[in-house]
Amino acid sequence: MSVRVRFAPSPTGPLHIGGVRTALYNYLFAKKLGGTMILRIEDTDRSRFVPGAEDYIIESLQWCGIQFDEGVHVGGPFTPYRQSERAAMYREFVDDLLNAGRAYYAFDTPEELEQMRQRLTAKGVANPQYDHHVRMEMQNSLALSSEEVERRIRQGVPYVVRFKIPELAEVTLYDLVRGEVTVHAATLDDKVLFKSDGMPTYHLANVVDDHLMQITHVIRGEEWLPSAPLHSLLYEAFGWKAPEFAHLPLLLKPDGNGKLSKRDGDRLGFPVFPLEWKDPATGEVSSGYRESGYIPEAFINFLALLGWNPGTEQELFSMEELIEAFSIERISKKGAKFDVDKARWFNHQYLKNMDDDTLTDGLMALMAEKQLVPDREYAKTVTRLVRERAVFIKDLFEQGGYFFQAPQHYDEAVAAKQWKPENKPHLEYIAGILESHSTADGLRLKELAMQYVKENNLPTGQIMNSIRLALVGKSMGPDLFEIIPLLGVQESAARIRKALAIL
Ligand code: GLU
Repeated sequence: MSVRVRFAPSPTGPLHIGGVRTALYNYLFAKKLGGTMILRIEDTDRSRFVPGAEDYIIESLQWCGIQFDEGVHVGGPFTPYRQSERAAMYREFVDDLLNAGRAYYAFDTPEELEQMRQRLTAKGVANPQYDHHVRMEMQNSLALSSEEVERRIRQGVPYVVRFKIPELAEVTLYDLVRGEVTVHAATLDDKVLFKSDGMPTYHLANVVDDHLMQITHVIRGEEWLPSAPLHSLLYEAFGWKAPEFAHLPLLLKPDGNGKLSKRDGDRLGFPVFPLEWKDPATGEVSSGYRESGYIPEAFINFLALLGWNPGTEQELFSMEELIEAFSIERISKKGAKFDVDKARWFNHQYLKNMDDDTLTDGLMALMAEKQLVPDREYAKTVTRLVRERAVFIKDLFEQGGYFFQAPQHYDEAVAAKQWKPENKPHLEYIAGILESHSTADGLRLKELAMQYVKENNLPTGQIMNSIRLALVGKSMGPDLFEIIPLLGVQESAARIRKALAIL
């Protein structure tokens, strides 16, 4: 049987990077085995529906290069792939469970449920829940007579359908990441499968759809592991073969203390969403990897290694190489700590592999935003000179902007340390040397300037740093005598004279 996997997000907000990683591992697994990758939207909980979230999810996955064979946006043999459009399909499956005595009607009002919880809490029950201890004391079709149940249904009394957790000692399932997982059945509650609004809950819709869509492997986040025993019991109750399960380790905050959550947003100084997101209700904007300047391939490479390792020292992987190398056996059980420096490192590696022309295009685009229209060849030369120092394309302007615009102000700390009044006549003299030579004489200029510094016993560092401050505005950039020929001797001298007049 060929492999079929699905990524099944709920459109309750922007997709978290942990969700992107889940989609990625599903994709890598499917592609490695020549299988099918499906995007199903799980939107049965209308109270948590957020407009725009589904489009956001699709756009994010497209940006990442994660492709789908079937799904809400590409169609396929199991259309519709959006659960709200499948709503009418679930009822018959609920009826099957009701008829088989594996599920029951429950009429309890929110107040009655609350009273039950209080009653149990008062008795010292740590985790009060609707289960085999209390079900016979509640308003449900197990406890009430069949006439009464029929009467209530006829009269339109609202009800839910609950799953009757069987009286087993334990439930065991096999997880491809964790091995055997066993829970005591007594800890499980009689989960609602079907709500009073006529919609299935996540659990029912998820299991029914995975079955109908012939999903062979359920690869999802660890937060769903507690639901897996219930799902496994549901498959058994339906008489269906359960898919294989693989629960992925959590993405942790950089200090390892807890799960990296949506709310961490920009609080920790890096995005937790692939694309920028504007909350439709509050207007609050959360940053995204795309807008922060990450290259999608670098972002994916970085994410792939958060929770999986190839078993070798190799760190740089194209999507094809990831597909080739991926295996569920090498997914770790331990949570993976997020490391933003590593994310930046990956971006730098990918930027290093981009050609000068692509980077120059990026720099030209940045300049156009600033209404600057430089000569392309000149911009390309600047790109070549500063690209080593760039992590993001936008750094090309930060690192090389002074080639296009004279400094508007000078770094105060550098000025205080390097710019000394007694050196001013010497800087004046060096400006003169520059003016009397041609731009092509880079090396000769260096010689002449150094000779002058030596003959007059001047502090080399201070003089050179002062010239740098005049040309660049701060203490950064490549060798001064690479900067000067590119700026041109006249422009360089003019910048030195301007600094002399101002500082
Ligand atoms: N709709 C669930 C979610 O939002 C899917 C969980 C699963 O993959 O079973 O993550």
